[in-house]
Amino acid sequence: MRDEDILDAARAIRPRLSGALADEIDQLLARADGGEDVADALLEVLTGDDALRDEARRLLDRQVDTSRGADSGGYGMADSAGYAALPGYAVPSAEIMYGCGECDYEYPVFEVGEPVPHCPHGHGALGRVGGR
Ligand SMILES: [Zn+2]
Repeated sequence: MRDEDILDAARAIRPRLSGALADEIDQLLARADGGEDVADALLEVLTGDDALRDEARRLLDRQVDTSRGADSGGYGMADSAGYAALPGYAVPSAEIMYGCGECDYEYPVFEVGEPVPHCPHGHGALGRVGGR
């Protein structure tokens, strides 16, 4: 979860709030605009209220899922297949190597759905040689 995602979540939630919570978020967002690092404080406000916590969790879920994937260490085919199954957007994933079966040519793929070229030496389509 990055600071800007917390700020985005706070900005998204803010218009639906009133009273002390709204004031608190306003103040923190104003300080954020001034260059202060208020992400932790904002997160505390967002998760300090039961209703807000659910809302914030929904808004932050996508980002949380993404970082969990990147931190899993399991950069194998299962992860990549999981990402590929996600509709709508490609998640930047671990580097996946494609290689030629006839020569040493290799091509790294950074994003699910990125087109994989054929071997430049005329050996045809590249095959997956694993991920890291
Ligand atoms: Zn080749």
